[in-house]
Amino acid sequence: MFKWFGKVNFSQYTKVSEFANHLKDGHLMGSKCKQCGHESFPPRADCNQCLSGDFEYLEFGGQATLLSHTTIHAAPTGFEDVAPYTIGVVDLKETGRLLAWFGDTVSDDEIKIGMELQVVPQIFEELEEIKVYYSLEKPGTTWSVSKSAM
Ligand SMILES: [Zn+2]
Repeated sequence: MFKWFGKVNFSQYTKVSEFANHLKDGHLMGSKCKQCGHESFPPRADCNQCLSGDFEYLEFGGQATLLSHTTIHAAPTGFEDVAPYTIGVVDLKETGRLLAWFGDTVSDDEIKIGMELQVVPQIFEELEEIKVYYSLEKPGTTWSVSKSAM
């Protein structure tokens, strides 16, 4: 059994650990504050509008619009072997802004500001924790979960 998001006795993580389980089941979830209705992505246990800790999960479709993109040639330590790579900033249809890598379904010459994209969680399970990052794919792209990086 994997310990999602690491240490289970760390309350900040346990409150949103369900997020990982939803991802595993193929659902991208944001959160909605039960006090003021503010929606967040990624989900946060404590509302950044009214500071309430009372929230519920809300399924997000992952449809997004490209706001900005850049190609990294001088990669940070640990990413040298994958450079050059292109990352984009997208606005989710529901709410939230996300920085993510472009996936294999979008070629560099197709990338245009304002294009529709699908945010796809890429999940890597490791011994102690789950790691999630997102890739930007063509609309309608679905994801396969529980990839193993090992
Ligand atoms: Zn709130």
